[in-house]
Amino acid sequence: MIAGGFFSEISDALFPPLCLACTKVLPGGDEGIFCEKCRPLVRFLTQSHCPVCGAVYPDSPAGDHLCGRCLEKHPDYDTARAVCAYEGVVLDAIHRFKYGRDLTVGAALARLLADFRFPDIDLGSFDLIVPVPLHLQRLRDRGFNQALVLACALGKKYAVEVDFSVLKRKDPTLSQTGLDKKERSRNVRGSFCAAPAEKLLEKKVIITDDVYTTGATINECAKTLKKAGAASVAAITLARVP
Ligand SMILES: [Zn+2]
Ligand SMILES: [Zn+2]
Repeated sequence: MIAGGFFSEISDALFPPLCLACTKVLPGGDEGIFCEKCRPLVRFLTQSHCPVCGAVYPDSPAGDHLCGRCLEKHPDYDTARAVCAYEGVVLDAIHRFKYGRDLTVGAALARLLADFRFPDIDLGSFDLIVPVPLHLQRLRDRGFNQALVLACALGKKYAVEVDFSVLKRKDPTLSQTGLDKKERSRNVRGSFCAAPAEKLLEKKVIITDDVYTTGATINECAKTLKKAGAASVAAITLARVP
């Protein structure tokens, strides 16, 4: 314990934790990942929201209520939540993690996700965490799956098993960039397959990903996991497109 503290003090002195946005040295003992000037630039999604898809209602006095989309057609997942809006300093950091392949930034973002408390979801009550899989080709190009980095941080925090083998991507899906919600859902339809049922049967599953855009990919994953026997599926992402 003492040795661990000693070494982490030396490591902090040599490689002090820096603010992810402005790279200012964070004061000793600060567990955050943004300095006090940059932290207010992160828009945490703590407002009233749709209890199913997690769409937020800024400044709504009505409290949590189902959105029009979920009333019309319930998604295949049971609930989706994100920590913060996909914009500004968070968007920049996610890009550095994913496209700049900066795993130090990834570790900090994973901590941001794991330390966030979702008031209406008990993540510790789930059986399994499954990252949204990348196709093998994309995994080879990037060198890691960002959704798995996030899944591992959640799994460690809540002592829930992480399994990246139960869900696989069959086809190299075309990029979702520039597609609308309908096109995105058509683009990912049938793209995933799940492992034999015993791993998933009656299991409460969390899917993780970095960004919730239209929910098309996450919904397709949830549909596949439920077909394979999962009892419920919650989608937890770091960020959500506003
Ligand atoms: Zn800063
Ligand atoms: Zn909704």
